Amino acid sequence: MAILKILTEEDPILRKTSRKVDAITPRIQILLDDMIATLHKSGGVGLAAPQVGVLRRVVVVETEPGNLIELINPVIVETSGSQTGQEGCLSLPGRWGICTRPDTVTVEATNRRGERFRVTGTGLTARCFCHELDHLDGILYPDVADRMLTRAEIDKMMEDDD
Ligand code: ZN
Repeated sequence: MAILKILTEEDPILRKTSRKVDAITPRIQILLDDMIATLHKSGGVGLAAPQVGVLRRVVVVETEPGNLIELINPVIVETSGSQTGQEGCLSLPGRWGICTRPDTVTVEATNRRGERFRVTGTGLTARCFCHELDHLDGILYPDVADRMLTRAEIDKMMEDDD
C-alpha cells in the first residue's frame, strides 16, 4: 500500500467533478487500499479520491477506529435532522469552519465486491458523508460553511487540546 499525496486547497483538481466508477477493477481496489493507508497516516476521518488527485467517485470514511466504510459511486438517499458543528479538511490544513449538516444521512453506494448497499450514519459520520461526497462534485466545506473560525479561535482551540 502506498501513502498518497493529499492535494491542498489551491490545486484546481479539487474543484473538478469526479467521474463514476464503471467497473471495480484491480486499479480501483488498489486506489481504495492506498486511500485507507493515506487516511490512517493522516489521522483524518474521511478521504475522497479527488483529494489524492484521482477524479473518481470513491470515498473512504472511518469515524470510529476499525469501522471502515468504503463508498464507490455514493449517493445520499435520505437525510434528517440538523447539526451545527466544527469541520476541517485534510486539504485545508490549519483551517476550521462551522457547518450545518443533516444529523442522519443514508448513503447508497457500491462496495469493492461490486454490490450495491446502504449505510446510515449519524453525528460525525453523517457530517463526514456530506463533506466527502461534496468533494466528488468539487465542493469544499468553506463553500457551505456558516462561517470560518478566526485565527484567535483556532489558537484557543489548540491551547484547549494541550
Ligand atoms: Zn475534505
